Amino acid sequence: MAEKLKAPRGTFDALPESQPARQRIEGQARKMLEASGYGRIETPAFEDTELFARGVGGSTDIVQKQMFSFTDQGGRELTLRPEGTAPVCRAYIEHGMHKLPQPVKLWYAGPYFRHERPQAGRFRQFNQIGAEVMGSDSPLVDAELIVLLHDLFTDLGIEGTRLRLGSLGTAETRRAYLEELTTYLRSRESELSKEVVARLDSNPLRAFDSDDEGTQTVMADAPKLMDRLDSADADHFAHVRSLLDEQGVSYDLDPTLVRGLDYYTRTVFEFESSKLGAQAALGGGGRYDGLMSQLGGPDTPAAGWGAGIERIALALGEQEPPRLDAFIVADDAARDRALALAFDLRRHGLAADLDLAERSAKGQMKQADRSGARYAVFLEGEGEPQLRAMESGEQRQVAAAELATHMRKAINS
Ligand code: AMP
Repeated sequence: MAEKLKAPRGTFDALPESQPARQRIEGQARKMLEASGYGRIETPAFEDTELFARGVGGSTDIVQKQMFSFTDQGGRELTLRPEGTAPVCRAYIEHGMHKLPQPVKLWYAGPYFRHERPQAGRFRQFNQIGAEVMGSDSPLVDAELIVLLHDLFTDLGIEGTRLRLGSLGTAETRRAYLEELTTYLRSRESELSKEVVARLDSNPLRAFDSDDEGTQTVMADAPKLMDRLDSADADHFAHVRSLLDEQGVSYDLDPTLVRGLDYYTRTVFEFESSKLGAQAALGGGGRYDGLMSQLGGPDTPAAGWGAGIERIALALGEQEPPRLDAFIVADDAARDRALALAFDLRRHGLAADLDLAERSAKGQMKQADRSGARYAVFLEGEGEPQLRAMESGEQRQVAAAELATHMRKAINS
């Protein structure tokens, strides 16, 4: 026998039983974002590698270790997208969206690819829902984005989420702060982990993320960026916070919040769930006022977030599948009529199914039970259908031509 093939490491098949949760998440996000003035955008699953090298930042884990990159037949350097913001900015620039009324509000959903070590909640192909607002530096934008993501989790009924919130300031504040932090880290270099020391010049902020005990002790006394914000950044952050307070969205101020991407300025945030293990981040984002010009576009302040569908689904747990309205049980003489009747019901907007494997009447009845359908419809020979309500067991004859109308009325009453 030929050897069986498996899905590539770190990938998964989203089977039918996982779809109710996934579709609920995507459906709720779409409804909420479109009701808030966000238009959907779809960008290619791969882009020029240069976009991510420039957009995400050369010193990040994503660019250094996690990209699925390849050279195509035409010699182009391409990468399966590891994140959604840089591609959306590329599209904003390419389509001259800065000429539209600002800000431009976009949302997206689709697969992303990172070569990470697979574990529960961490995959090499995963799906994100994202939202980006481009062309305004108003704190209202930051607040709107955060409240929307908060409301998404609340509407889905996910409990035990925590919002971590911080501000990274503008590029200049950050530069001065990074110098101060690097000097401090150099002064205590011998106490730091090797990994942190290796990255000290390229990305000293990552030291706050370290699991190493010695490093953590050093970081407890390290200067914090939030204490170094200039007055414009501090005012911006205070305004975002007051808007969140007004909306009753609680958060923990986290001066050590550094996200794994280089482009953030000012507000950064992350929602975590206590229901998930080590991979607790449900979604996060922030402001990235410098990214658009870094990618060759006009100076355009912007902010956004990305949230992982698989992580949210884990926190949500399994969801009820949609219920069939009718399962048709037919004897041998009525099998073809059963198919015609199923289509008649479906064309009237009802969810109907039937046996397609020539099971006995008993076998079909079992199927009807297992399907969870509200009604079983019995067809015998040339006779009119018998409609049985599965819960009450009540049964009556209804003319085939009137069955759909009758059922719709019964279901809506
Ligand atoms: P990030 O772009 O890293 O901030 O990721 C945004 C969200 O996407 C995270 O909060 C997770 O919910 C999800 N996510 C990121 N990486 C992965 C992964 N490798 N597997 C599954 N979900 C992920």
